[in-house]
Amino acid sequence: MSPGALPLPAGFRPYAWAPSSLEIAARHGLRPEHILRFDQNTPPLPGVPRVPLAQSFARLNDYPDGTYRELREAAASYCDVDASQIVVGAGADELIALCARTFLGPGRCAAISPPTYGLYRIVTELEGAEVVEDRDGAAVIWVCNPNNPTGELREPTELAALARAHAEAIVVVDEAYFEFADATCVPLIAEQPSLIVLRTLSKVFGLASLRVGYAIAAPDVAAELELRRAPASVSGPAARIAAAALREPRIDVQDTLAERARVRDALLSAGHDCPESAGNFVFVRTAEPLGEQLERQGLVVRHFAEGVRITLRRPRENDVLLAALGTEVDAVLTGREVHVARISTETALRISLDLDGAGHARVETGIGFLDHLLALWTFHGGFDLELLAGGDLEVDEHHTVEDVLAALGDAVSEALGAREGIARYGSAIVPMDEATATVAVDLVRRPHAEIALQFGSDRVGGLAVTLLAHALERFAIQAGCTIQLTAAGGDDHHVAEAAFKALGQALRQACTAAGEGVRSTKGLA
Ligand code: PMP
Repeated sequence: MSPGALPLPAGFRPYAWAPSSLEIAARHGLRPEHILRFDQNTPPLPGVPRVPLAQSFARLNDYPDGTYRELREAAASYCDVDASQIVVGAGADELIALCARTFLGPGRCAAISPPTYGLYRIVTELEGAEVVEDRDGAAVIWVCNPNNPTGELREPTELAALARAHAEAIVVVDEAYFEFADATCVPLIAEQPSLIVLRTLSKVFGLASLRVGYAIAAPDVAAELELRRAPASVSGPAARIAAAALREPRIDVQDTLAERARVRDALLSAGHDCPESAGNFVFVRTAEPLGEQLERQGLVVRHFAEGVRITLRRPRENDVLLAALGTEVDAVLTGREVHVARISTETALRISLDLDGAGHARVETGIGFLDHLLALWTFHGGFDLELLAGGDLEVDEHHTVEDVLAALGDAVSEALGAREGIARYGSAIVPMDEATATVAVDLVRRPHAEIALQFGSDRVGGLAVTLLAHALERFAIQAGCTIQLTAAGGDDHHVAEAAFKALGQALRQACTAAGEGVRSTKGLA
């Protein structure tokens, strides 16, 4: 112990970070790239900044606005409260510590209901206060809702009643996983000012690395927290990116919720004790050393005395874990599903592409017409595509359109891998009312594009028509294929639509495993 450091309570255990994938791989003689992490409770794919990074990084010599007005206003509008009710911090973790600093000290105690998030105990003890399970007389009651690690959700009205029953206590409701549960105590703060709600950008927003969280409290309580807040613990770029994310949230939890139900059902069928969860994770109650067994196979879950917590990842990755847990799923990581992330000073984007999909698209580029065209491309290609982009659209749409198509080409190329055993050629003639598109593709690595789109005016769907052709050329080059595409007609909108539909159809054929035949067009719009 360093001389002068204040003594810590007997048995104090600091926050312990999980070992890195490199360490885990070395420990079990595995390759680091084969380690799958189900232990971080973060989404499998990163959030995409909605502000041009060049702007965010242009003034690194300046301190951020230490009042975080922009971020507080964005959080306030996201939560439908007043900005005076928002306190920001470097992650919900810093706000947990701030609550402890504000309301705890020697002679006070704080109540927890284990198993729960371990930081509540740590910050309580660091303030010299005592951790108890009996809520009577506690200065702070820590509630994690939904609870990490069990996923249990308590009704907000029940928590407000708890706060009323313990009027002398501050009830901190940690809603780190709120978006997956869609139940919040925020509207109850007005009538019950002893409630403080904590939120984070680390979970559903996929921005954990930025370290941004915020508290929502009654104005007087927020003011008390503000008095004790660190001067400017959230960096300027992090605050800007987080504010943009909160202002226009791009949250889609449907896939995660569907996976949560599917994974839980599979675990229950295999005889596991898996309670209902309202988070982006499931919990398996067990006394067995399940976590260690899985880790030896490169599957990392979070161990607790009561069981293991499994963060949901992409369906195929979850299948690998489910197979290891004795469920009846076909675990095949096909290799035709890829994730591409591209960040430049002008645009940021993220793509998940599965060549063997069902035609589902979630495309949000900030350019409605481009989203529409790519959704058609995905549908007619029979792919699955999730594509999020944020770019300097206030300059113009050029960078975003070009970068999106180029990165999509990269994704196709990566997904095709060695390009063995595929049909290679594909072609389609697609009419769209009076317009017609004709396309031929060759997937052998001879990047070449002949794109002839005949439009009647300079712009279609708000996009410069020359840009569309240019971006399709980039797509061909990055995908490493030949594309010959012509489209013409009386209605520019139809010309563009026919072109993207036809390209999807032709790629579908060309990507098909040889001999498998081509996709039926029955029922396609
Ligand atoms: N609260 C809970 C319940 C959590 O599980 C986590 C993630 N470990 C946090 C807070 C931390 O959130 P942040 O990344 O915002 O510090």
